[in-house]
Amino acid sequence: MPGPRMPGQCVVTVMMDSGRQRDARQGGPGSMAKVNYYEVLRVPVNAGDDEIVAAHHRLVSLLVPDLHPRASAAAKRELCEAVKLVDTARGVLTRPALRREHDSELGKPAPSEPPADPTNTDGCMICGSTPANHVVFRRQQGMLYRRRIWRVEGTVCRDCGRSVGRDWQSRTLIAGWWGMISLFVNSYYVLANTVELFGLFGLDRPDRDPATASPLPAPLDPKPPLILRLGPLFFVALIVVIILVNRAGA
Ligand SMILES: [Zn+2]
Repeated sequence: MPGPRMPGQCVVTVMMDSGRQRDARQGGPGSMAKVNYYEVLRVPVNAGDDEIVAAHHRLVSLLVPDLHPRASAAAKRELCEAVKLVDTARGVLTRPALRREHDSELGKPAPSEPPADPTNTDGCMICGSTPANHVVFRRQQGMLYRRRIWRVEGTVCRDCGRSVGRDWQSRTLIAGWWGMISLFVNSYYVLANTVELFGLFGLDRPDRDPATASPLPAPLDPKPPLILRLGPLFFVALIVVIILVNRAGA
């Protein structure tokens, strides 16, 4: 079964979806193409349950709509559908009977053949576009003596990476400073996120092969730029307040 959901995230039932649903995720209704759940999760065809569960967790942590608060209602519906697809992929591949059925539909290679390795690709794990970079984004919420920390990691195209990275940077610029340890750790998080975002500058515009199996059919919307989000504005205001308080106390 899939992992527990946080409040506000997509609530889905994991079961083998119908052929019509599968076709709708790739090539449109009526398409003869079948979604390859190994490609969706980017695991090899001989992947074990642990590998499948880890791949599912990586993808869901990038796709949950709560991660994209600025996304439009339509985009959030797309994200929910993407989470359902990823959940279904995990549900099918971790149930032997369903996995056998899926493998027979795909025409899984005989054991004597070298296993295909869908993870051996440089495409975005969210939308399948190329080129893509491997990134790690971090954020935290400081609570004086405690911290809550989050981390996402994956191979993403320029636009998907910016969408996630800008949101996480903005959030940690607001919520990450409140505590002695949090103050130091958050400085590192902000710096590390900045390095990752700069790394995405070197990527070309995402280019997607329509035949690619991926959770989303197009890259995430990266707008607005970080400078127009609340986090940097809040951070500058915080610095100004600290300077003014120090001057008043001098
Ligand atoms: Zn992408």
